[in-house]
Order: sequence, then C-alpha cells, then structure tokens
Amino acid sequence: MASVEEHTAQPPAEVAGDIAVENPATGEVIAHVPDLGPDAVAELARAARAVQPAWEALGYDGRGRVLRRAQKWLVDHSDRVIQTIVSETGKTYEDALIAEVMYGANALGFWAKNAPRYLADERIRSSSPLLKGKKLVLRYRPIGLVGVIGPWNYPLTNSFGDCVPALAAGNAVILKPSEVTPLTSLLLLEALRESGLPDGVMAIATGGGATGAALIDEVDMVMFTGSTATGRKVMERAAQTLTPVSLELGGKDPMIVLADADLERAANQAVYYGMLNTGQTCISVERVYVEAPVHDEFVAKVTEKARALRNDRSTGPGTADVGSMTFPPQVDIVERHVQDARDKGAQVLVGGSRGHDGRGGYWYEPTVLVGVDHTMACMREETFGPTLPIMKVADAEEAIRLANDSPYGLGASVFSKDAARGEAVARRIDAGAVCVNDSNVNYTALELPMGGMKSSGLGSRHGAGGIRKYAQQQSLLISRLHTRKDIHMYPNTARVTAGLGKLVRLLYGRGKRD
Ligand code: NAD
Repeated sequence: MASVEEHTAQPPAEVAGDIAVENPATGEVIAHVPDLGPDAVAELARAARAVQPAWEALGYDGRGRVLRRAQKWLVDHSDRVIQTIVSETGKTYEDALIAEVMYGANALGFWAKNAPRYLADERIRSSSPLLKGKKLVLRYRPIGLVGVIGPWNYPLTNSFGDCVPALAAGNAVILKPSEVTPLTSLLLLEALRESGLPDGVMAIATGGGATGAALIDEVDMVMFTGSTATGRKVMERAAQTLTPVSLELGGKDPMIVLADADLERAANQAVYYGMLNTGQTCISVERVYVEAPVHDEFVAKVTEKARALRNDRSTGPGTADVGSMTFPPQVDIVERHVQDARDKGAQVLVGGSRGHDGRGGYWYEPTVLVGVDHTMACMREETFGPTLPIMKVADAEEAIRLANDSPYGLGASVFSKDAARGEAVARRIDAGAVCVNDSNVNYTALELPMGGMKSSGLGSRHGAGGIRKYAQQQSLLISRLHTRKDIHMYPNTARVTAGLGKLVRLLYGRGKRD
C-alpha cells in the first residue's frame, strides 16, 4: 500500500483527515491522500501567487521547454502512468493509453507550440474617425492563479489536461483532482517538477467537495469538469467573488443511424464509444436512434459485438476490453436505469447485471437495451455506464426531434453514407460538437473547441478559446502623433459642432437604403 507521504509532493499543511483511494477493480485500498481544509488551500494559493510572476517571466520559450520535457517524461514513463491510472480507475490498459496518455502527450506539445500564437498581441484597425493614426492593440496576459477541479473518469485528460494550457499561458495552477482518483495528478506533478517546473507554480489540492469549494474562493479563474449538479454549485460559489468559470458538464450524447448508413461502421462505433472507459466518458454514446428499415440489422450487429467483449480486470496490454466501473455509486445509477427500462417494457439483449463472480470491486456488464423510449431514465438521464439503449425511429425527423429532446447538449453523432445529408442532420442537433460517420474523436482535435450547449456547460476547452480563457484580455490604445487638443474638446462652439454634424452625415448618412 502506498503511504500518504509517497503521494504528497506538497508543503506540510493543515489536513482535515485523509482519504482512502481504492482500486475499483478489486476494492482494495491502494493509498491514502490528505483531505486538505480551507487553510491548507489558502497556503497553497499564497505560495503559487508568490512564484507566478517568475513563471510568467520565463516567457513562452522557457515555459514551452518545461512542457516539452514533461512530454518526453510522459512517454518515457508511460507504463508507470498507465499503471497508476488503471489502479485508481479500474479502466483497461488501452483506455489509459489511448484516451489519457496519448491525449496528455499531444496536449503538452500542442500548448507549448501554440500558446504564443493564440495569445499573441493583435493589432486592431478601428472604423472610428476619432482614432485615425492611433495604435490599437489587444493583448492577453495571464489571469494569475487558475483553479482546476476535475472528475474521476479521466484523471489525466480531464484534470491534468486542463492545467497544461493554463500553465503555458503563464499562470500558476492549483488542481483539485477527484477524491476518487487523486494519484495520477500527484504523479504528473512529479513529472512537471522533474521537467523543471519551479516549486509552487503548480500544486495538487487533494480532498473532497469542500476542498474544491475552498479552492474557488482562492483563485482568479475556475476550470471545472464534472456533473451538472456540482457545476451549478461551482458557479454559485464563484459568483460571490465574481470569479470567471468554465464548466464542462454532463452529457447524454445521441447517435443517429440513418437508413443509408454503413451499418458495420456505425455498429463498431456504437459499441466502442458506448463502452469506452466502461461508458464513463462525458461524450459516450448514451442513446442510439435508428431508422426503422435498418433497425433490426443494426441491433443484430451491435448485439454480436457487445456479447464478445471481455469485461474483466486489465492486467496489461490486450487482457480485457471493458474494465470495472470507477465510482461505486455510479453502479447503482446504471442498475436503476436498466431496471427502470425493464419495468417499462424494454428488453435486455446483452448484459443487464453487475456480473459479480467473486472478483470484488465495482462491475457492471456491457449491456444492450432495445424497445426503449423517452419515458425511461436510460434515454433521459446521464447513465455514465456501459449501456447502449437503441430506439427505432420512423425517419430522420423523428431522430432529430428525439436527439434534441434532452436537457443536455454535449456531443452527438450521425451516420449516413451520404456525407452531405449527414452534415445537414448534424447542423440541426443542439450539441456543442457533432461528428458525421465518427464519434468522440473530435476531442482529440486540440485545434477545435469542445464544450457543451444547454446544461452540458459553459465555455469550452481546446482551440484559441481554450487558452484565452486563462488570460485577461487587455486593450491598449497608444497615441504617438497628436495635437495638443483634439477637435471635439471644450469649449463647444457652433462652428465645430456643425462640422462634426456634417462629418456624421458624410460618413454614415450617404447612399440608398432598402
Ligand atoms: P462531480 O461533479 O461529482 O465531481 C467533480 C469534482 O467536483 C470532484 O473533484 C469533486 O470533489 C468536486 N466537487 C464536489 N462538490 C464540489 C463543490 N461544492 N465545489 C467545488 N468542487 C466540488 O463529478 P464526477 O462524478 O467526478 O464526474 C462525472 C461527471 O463529470 C459526469 O457528469 C460527466 O459527464 C462529467 N464530465 C464532463 C466532461 C466534459 O468535458 N464535459 C468530462 C468528463 C466528465
């Protein structure tokens, strides 16, 4: 068992207690970490603020060097990182490699390279006649101290991943990882330190919800990823100090399969992106709508593929397809959704139970449901588990209506061999990102914003906006050549006022209008 000390690269601080970290695939306790109280969080914030100016002063080149070294560290130590992720999440080796290590390695290089471009000064030209000859500049400067609060489903991608652009922009960062999965964050802080990150620029505030709440009071910006319910609380708390927030929240992503789709590809995508990370992905395929003529064939393909999945503890590459669940209460939610669907007349074609066979840990089998409708929780609430409910629809119009019949709007996918038709459908879905003949992979495009509509969030990660949110924009107006007094200044005279009136008519009053 790892000790508290081993996992605490922090200055000694007031600790409210400690948190036992479990391996959810076995139920064994594998480590303890401190549960930091508000005073400890304030202490970390003070230390971070003290060193932030020196980190900013390193410039893009200096900061980029640290991030690129960390990229190499991550690749060189990928097995250790994967083992840590697998041990605290129960996910498979491949889920940790593909959706976490690959993402992290790409992100470290991407932000090191692109931060200077996205945050470069912009020269602005103004149409105002009063500003001729003046220099107008929009610049981005670090916001100061960023608080990142993360969920348990992707401890590298959705926690550490959001720290990378914040650091690249020149900020200090305090990361509050989920209390369920804090070990990966602690390891990655070690990676950054070994790569030359000055002490205190980044800290990990281990703890539960109260630690997250305390962090909000201390920082200049909050990047939160988690459930919609907690996101609301985060925004309320941040409102007290007018602290800006970016919220990446829950989802109920629909997949639409049109009658002309490549059914083999659609079925592979549904099974993979429905079961990836045991269905605990914010942009998981959570519900599928299939046009009636191809419904049965699609269901047959999905059923065959889902039945073949090895739902087991991953002990290395290639040893399992779908891992355990990570957070015990989530298993209860999945069970409730499947039971509710059964009670209301749905059929379970694959799985449908916890599948315990003395393994210990927290498990739910890959599950395929048909005969579902929108009276059922599995089609309306975020399940966040390995379930794939498939609903037959009359046509594309019904599919679009049902896809949009949700409080969420994170991601979606549409399958059709006619890409133009697929795109036309995609444009009518109320979701922050929609893929055509693909699913989920938009997340790997760090150039493309990823964020939710409706109750799925506020703001986005990735792209220019994904780093500018960690900066304060400042407008500069510089007058180099000027008279002693501008023409519109006191005293007001009839001659000048008449001249200005003429100017207004000349500039804006000429020409025909419809
Ligand atoms: P959660 O909301 O329970 O917890 C998220 C984090 O918030 C944890 O670190 C938790 O300790 C902290 N927290 C709890 N109460 C708090 C409070 N009052 N103030 C501040 N922080 C507080 O979410 P979870 O169960 O860890 O994660 C699963 C959820 O995250 C799902 O809904 C999933 O869809 C969502 N998610 C969204 C994205 C996205 O990009 N949109 C990505 C991953 C996960």
